[in-house]
Amino acid sequence: MNIDPLIGGMLRRINRHVLTLTESPAGTALPAAKSDATHLLYLHIPYCKVLCPFCSFHRVEFRRDSTESYFDCLRREIQLVTDMGYRFDELYVGGGTPTVMPAELLKTLELLRSLHPLDSLSVETNPDDLEHENLAALRDAGVNRLSVGVQSFDDDLLKEMQRYDKYGSGKAIADRLVRVAGIFDTLNVDIIFNFPHQTERSLDKDLDRLIDEVGVDQVSFYPLMTVNSTRKRMLQTIGEVDYSKERQFYEQISERMLQAGYKRASAWCFSRQPGMFDEYIAERQEYVGLGSGAFSYIGGSLFASTFSINHYRQLIMAGKTGTTCKRRMTRRDRMRYHLMMQLFSGSLDLAAAEKQFDGQFEHKLFPELAALRVIGAVRRHEDKLLLTNSGYYLWVMLMREFFTAVNTLRDEMRHKIPEEYAMLKDAGKGQSLLLPSRAAHLDIQRQVEAKQQDRGSEDVRI
Ligand code: SF4
Repeated sequence: MNIDPLIGGMLRRINRHVLTLTESPAGTALPAAKSDATHLLYLHIPYCKVLCPFCSFHRVEFRRDSTESYFDCLRREIQLVTDMGYRFDELYVGGGTPTVMPAELLKTLELLRSLHPLDSLSVETNPDDLEHENLAALRDAGVNRLSVGVQSFDDDLLKEMQRYDKYGSGKAIADRLVRVAGIFDTLNVDIIFNFPHQTERSLDKDLDRLIDEVGVDQVSFYPLMTVNSTRKRMLQTIGEVDYSKERQFYEQISERMLQAGYKRASAWCFSRQPGMFDEYIAERQEYVGLGSGAFSYIGGSLFASTFSINHYRQLIMAGKTGTTCKRRMTRRDRMRYHLMMQLFSGSLDLAAAEKQFDGQFEHKLFPELAALRVIGAVRRHEDKLLLTNSGYYLWVMLMREFFTAVNTLRDEMRHKIPEEYAMLKDAGKGQSLLLPSRAAHLDIQRQVEAKQQDRGSEDVRI
């Protein structure tokens, strides 16, 4: 009997529960910084030149003036949290497309490096931004990992994804990757698997390209995810998502990558050498996220910044951070979160977990740990809990459901600010996720502000 759908449903319910946040449009303060702690910093740049139909990230269409003013706000927010006492030693810049305005990104990195002793910097980009000059400037600014969103090298799939016209053929993208190999310590490629029209043969060809042709340092293989806002467009373009083939594709990927000498960095990331990988939430206990739509996890609470870029600007100009949502996790939720994130990287240090949770970790999570052992997902080795081969796929499902819940939360938040989008549509400026020009923005902002003041605090349930 295939119990995958059963497990998927159970995980969905747990994640929905954990990701229920309370929203305060006037802003939610981040906790005071601990003087002896350094954190990982995530910056979100939500702009993309064209919006892909399957993407449920927080992203909006690129406009030069809007993007410039957004970067300016981001630098103000960085200065603000620095003044609050936060110290950062590791940086991830994600989006959207962080390299959409290289000069603005470089100015932001320069500010950060003048304020914090960053020793690891990772930046996401797209295949059309792989210009040697820009990348060399990023490397000189301290970036040691570049992550490129490729998704697939299969031309038919790229056409379905509406990425072929934007970024070129699979062959052209692979050629560009070969040309930039070696600029950074780690070149990561993001690939999506389990497309409705993907075949084993097509995935095999992608793996050949990654391993033999590009010889990439690291690959993150994301299972295709869907949420309400993307479902209709996905049906019209790439087809209906079918989870029944996901396990088989994942096993094909694992077998090929391990045979080629890559090691698992997480359940879905394979790396030639140890180093940074995209799922920093598995690597660091706490992190601070800045920019519209960024998440933070500090002192046992989960925070999210406003998904309205207009509202984000307002908060920053009022001298606040962009944080508007919070959930104080119960002790049990924190333990479960710890279990989920640590095992995502393949192993959990039980001795460290007992120390962190006052000797209560295994006792309080007995049902969860017993269930994982019974289904053969984990095994104990000395003081470590390790994922088994079948456990790795379970964790792919678990994280797929976790990120789907995060994306659903994003959907919920964006639906709460239809004013920004509907008015733009009326003004004939395009589709629902366009950004306003600065003049239109001021007008919309006044109306959004009035509505937000009426709302007070409220729960966002997903
Ligand atoms: S997949 Fe990447 S490029 Fe496409 S819309 Fe999403 S963030 Fe932008």
